[in-house]
Amino acid sequence: MIKEDPQPPRTENERRLHSFHYRRMALANLPSIDRLLQTEQVQEWLRSYPRPLVVEALRAGVDAERRRILAGEEGPSLDRILREALSALEVRCRRSLRRCINATGVVIHTNLGRSLLPQSAIDAVVEVSQSHSTLEIDVETGERSSRHIHIEGLLKELTGAEASAVFNNNAAAVLLSITALAKGKEVIVSAGQLVEIGGSFRIPEVIESGGARLRIVGTTNRTRLSDYQKAIDEETGLLLLVHPSNYRLIGFTQSVPAEELVALGREYGIPVMEDLGSGLLVDLSAYGLSDEPVVNASLKAGVDIVTFSGDKLLGGPQAGIVLGRKDLVEQIKKHPMARAVRCDKMTLAALEATLRLYRDGVALEAIPTLAALLKPPSEIEQLARTVAEKIPPGYLSVELVEGYSQVGGGALPGENLPTFLLALKHQRISAGALAYRLRLNNPPIFARIQQDQVLLDFRTIKKEEIPEVQSALVALAQYSGEE
Ligand SMILES: *Cc1c(COP(=O)(O)O)cnc(C)c1O
Repeated sequence: MIKEDPQPPRTENERRLHSFHYRRMALANLPSIDRLLQTEQVQEWLRSYPRPLVVEALRAGVDAERRRILAGEEGPSLDRILREALSALEVRCRRSLRRCINATGVVIHTNLGRSLLPQSAIDAVVEVSQSHSTLEIDVETGERSSRHIHIEGLLKELTGAEASAVFNNNAAAVLLSITALAKGKEVIVSAGQLVEIGGSFRIPEVIESGGARLRIVGTTNRTRLSDYQKAIDEETGLLLLVHPSNYRLIGFTQSVPAEELVALGREYGIPVMEDLGSGLLVDLSAYGLSDEPVVNASLKAGVDIVTFSGDKLLGGPQAGIVLGRKDLVEQIKKHPMARAVRCDKMTLAALEATLRLYRDGVALEAIPTLAALLKPPSEIEQLARTVAEKIPPGYLSVELVEGYSQVGGGALPGENLPTFLLALKHQRISAGALAYRLRLNNPPIFARIQQDQVLLDFRTIKKEEIPEVQSALVALAQYSGEE
């Protein structure tokens, strides 16, 4: 049934399009799915897309065209049907988890997948996924071996640690270590270090779910050695230091250096553990990034167990690394929960390859996270300028501005890295709508919004992505704000 439109059409042409006869004719002329399947374009699609999905997309395209005709639009248009069907097909066949462009300037962005793997780590992942591997076997003896050994030698060499183990992520490493070392006992933590990392990872809750009891000492801004000392009794199982990775206490503050806590722990025979968070393996103070603890320093201070992430400043795959005293690492590895949070061969392959880059002395260039942190502003400016110059006059204003990038990943929260950005403004749409259009791009582009402007930070945009950013901006310059 074709109903007459309740609102009377105004122009002569609108009257014609809304007429019963026009609509009936137009609907009768809608192409059949079979006819569409015969067209050259659709035959081409069938070479790369599964037939049932092609048919489904064509149906959706025809249905949309039917609705347009009923709403009084001219039709049917074969071009329009095919265009819509193709974009529906592309969306339907796209993986949900796919690459995107990080233009936020946050180098270690948890929601965008943290660190990018170095090429050698990618190669290692491909190798062990395509073939069987020496994951848990000793090549010489042919006997069963441990998956931890592939990285243990490298970590010992790089950090001087006595022993190591790797788990699914740092949250797992912390939880497992607390359970294995202090279940049923008290864990002493300074009030200033009761960190929440984001989401559900809060130190007090982690300690509780590890089956231990939290004993808070000191105040938010000041904790002294004597505070720890007074809290130690026969219930104490662990002294825990937590790196306040995503915030800084400044002003009238005091915390106990690891060395002093270690000395106290030794006196009472209680192990000291430190959750470092980020796991920086090289000292970056020469590059002006001095506010982040280096793994070696904790070990040198005598901390018994140190844990950190594999995909923050270390720049490798998601993992939780445990380093320290051999007897304690053994205790952690042997705990029944260790199996539940162990990591897979792809992670281990990527981590081994990443650690080799540190050993070979090429980490700063070969590890994308470190390279992005150390990317010179002049290089960033050059990239931003190249893109800005290629945007034709239109609806989009593009301005090269100076600003700051962030490290992210709960590391160096106080550090601002000087950078160059393109500030975008669209004549017809808001900054929010502009950011949305950038996210609709394939690949999606994530930017930040500041004072009614969309900012693209070229520190975190890869060279290979520059043409993609450029064509997205060209399209926006031509976009009038209407569909
Ligand atoms: C990031 C962080 C964690 C959690 O590490 P994941 O690798 O995300 O599991 C734990 N502790 C600290 C201090 C952190 O910064």
